[in-house]
Amino acid sequence: MAQNVASFMENVTAKNPSETEFHQAVEEVVESIWPVLDKRPEYRKAKILERVTEPERVIMFRVPWVDDSGEVQVNRGFRIEMNSAIGPYKGGLRFHPSVNLGILKFLAFEQVFKNSLTTLPMGGGKGGSDFDPKGKSDLEVMRFTQAFMSELFRHIGPNTDVPAGDIGVGGREIGFMFGQYKKLANEFTGILTGKGLNWGGSLIRPEATGYGAVYFAANMLETKNETLEGKTCLVSGSGNVAQYAIEKLLDLGAKPVTCSDSGGYIYDEAGIDREKLAFIMELKNVKRGRVSEYAEKFSSAVYTPVNRDLDHNPLWDHKADCAFPCATQNEVNAVDAGNLLRNGVYVVSEGANMPTVPEGVNQFVDAKILYGPGKAANAGGVAVSGLEMSQNSMRYNWTREEVDQKLHGIMKSIHDASVAAANEFGTPGNYVNGANIAGFVKIADTMLDQGVV
Ligand code: NDP
Repeated sequence: MAQNVASFMENVTAKNPSETEFHQAVEEVVESIWPVLDKRPEYRKAKILERVTEPERVIMFRVPWVDDSGEVQVNRGFRIEMNSAIGPYKGGLRFHPSVNLGILKFLAFEQVFKNSLTTLPMGGGKGGSDFDPKGKSDLEVMRFTQAFMSELFRHIGPNTDVPAGDIGVGGREIGFMFGQYKKLANEFTGILTGKGLNWGGSLIRPEATGYGAVYFAANMLETKNETLEGKTCLVSGSGNVAQYAIEKLLDLGAKPVTCSDSGGYIYDEAGIDREKLAFIMELKNVKRGRVSEYAEKFSSAVYTPVNRDLDHNPLWDHKADCAFPCATQNEVNAVDAGNLLRNGVYVVSEGANMPTVPEGVNQFVDAKILYGPGKAANAGGVAVSGLEMSQNSMRYNWTREEVDQKLHGIMKSIHDASVAAANEFGTPGNYVNGANIAGFVKIADTMLDQGVV
């Protein structure tokens, strides 16, 4: 019997039970690339799809450490080495209590196609732990990250696998992990990206994901001869990606009015300006406080705590032109997507990975708005990680302007490649299909070149 998307997905689901986010990510890609398989039977013959949905290697390990009260804690560590066809595995580490195998496999799978889109030679991977950095002292975070790296170090290397940050992993965590790697391996080398500027980091890396998501929105608007100037923008999250998305929106004359954390969100009708953004950065990066404190400081803002009884997130229910989901997966549900459209939003650029549920994605695509999926729109972060690797190999640093210009150029090529692939396969304006197809074809052709491995 000829295979179709449903029967292919039945196999994936049976082989990877309970990994719902992984099934969701695979199904979205498979739906987009099915017409490509019909055109290119050699991909089917070489079982490219079966191979790209199976990680090359999954590493899972115990992370024991001692907390400040002397109690032994045990977490679980992971590294998914998904695909190394076009370069060393590359992708972030996430520290969050929700982390499990299925979530990391979805992220690693997305990463393969995203990295392919960047035009840089990077394979795909992802890792992390169910460790929760929230409420932990700096010393506890250091002891945990050292324990985590004590196992991870034997699996990574500058030509093998180069992790970076993600949710719960920022400059502090990367610093502790780099220090531990250097001690264990007795080697100073670029095994992580997102490093500090004094020890091999790249300018613009912290900014890159948020900036890139805004550049992508600007690229999409350019196709309609429009800019971000004067546009009202909804942003979720208040971490690394959200902060720099807000910064770039301000640079380009837009008006961001929201941000959030897992406790709730603020709506600031007057707009989040540079002074208020500086407050958010200090609050989140130094004081490690909650976004509710923003509304205590600025009277123009209203704070709304999360209400789990609601069937939607009220953050997405304000009048606006653009939306930048920058918190986490599946944070925009079908009701939220409907609310966004009803409120006039016609640009959605995803800073987070897979923040919109499939029904929401379908609504955006059917409404023919400018919808940039995370795989394309948030690729700026890993792109500058790739540039950090290049600088480490050259033992040389580019200026801020040079890196920003390259980031700009990469986001534009991702945009244009997505548009071209969507056109070629008969779905003009559909960036979901475009990004999935453009990312996939390069991986598939490379896997053909390299034989059955
Ligand atoms: P951070 O840890 O810096 O910030 C995450 C933000 O999202 C915080 O405000 C956090 O709130 C909120 N958040 C996290 N989980 C949840 C949840 N389950 N429910 C509600 N809010 C939540 O992470 P980043 O900014 O680095 O990452 C944000 C998103 O961007 C993720 O999807 C990540 O995979 C993606 N991404 C990140 C890249 C990077 O370079 N950092 C690159 C590409 C994609 P709280 O503090 O309360 O937990």
